[in-house]
Amino acid sequence: MSPHFFDSHCHFDFEVFDDTRRSLWSACLEKNIQQLLIPGIHPKQWLRAQAITEQYPGILMAAGIHPWWLASAVLPETEQWLAALKFPQCVALGECGLDAVIDLPLEKQQVVFEAHLQMAVEVSMPLIIHVRQAHNETLQLLKRYQPPRGGVIHGFSGSIELAKQYWNQGFHLGIGGSITYPRAHKTRKMVKAMPLASLLIETDSPDMPLSGYQGQPNSPLRIIEIAATLAELRQQSLETITEATTANSCRLFGR
Ligand SMILES: [Zn+2]
Repeated sequence: MSPHFFDSHCHFDFEVFDDTRRSLWSACLEKNIQQLLIPGIHPKQWLRAQAITEQYPGILMAAGIHPWWLASAVLPETEQWLAALKFPQCVALGECGLDAVIDLPLEKQQVVFEAHLQMAVEVSMPLIIHVRQAHNETLQLLKRYQPPRGGVIHGFSGSIELAKQYWNQGFHLGIGGSITYPRAHKTRKMVKAMPLASLLIETDSPDMPLSGYQGQPNSPLRIIEIAATLAELRQQSLETITEATTANSCRLFGR
């Protein structure tokens, strides 16, 4: 039997999928996409993600606060957070992190990010990290907290050197649609050079459309094209890439 695909980062709970979620998940299963992880955005959204995981076996979730939603969300009471983390299909903390591109001071973001890091140490769960133009700050915090289960730097598109620093801290690289753009030289070089054990694949849909699909909402179905591009770049078979990236996700998220 050929190995199945695991989309390690998909906002499948977003409204844009409301009308098509059921048929889209059936289409995913037909294409052997059997696992998908919905990252946490803010506490109210966790409940929505929980409901979806209960409806669709194979769909997992994480609980955390995304930096983009920090202005409108507050950090939950520890008990509420712990309860969400104990939810059967909840396998990680996040997505959380630092985003220097948005209009919210990094110091404010850092308080919440550190709460996630501390929680990761306390409950021993992996982290899903969102980081834009704040890699030094993020790496420093990872070194300080040493989260025991590591995690993933989602949507990673940095250099080989940066990728190695994260991998040395126990963090995988979440590889998405950016590798399908021929101009993404740095990222394409990086995915060729890194050990296959360090890579997860993700669509980040409905965001991050692949090359050739700009302007359309991205879909978890495109995980196959991301895997195929990775296979082509690394000159390995699609089967090898799929088997390894799925195994990496399963190992990281304990499923
Ligand atoms: Zn995301």
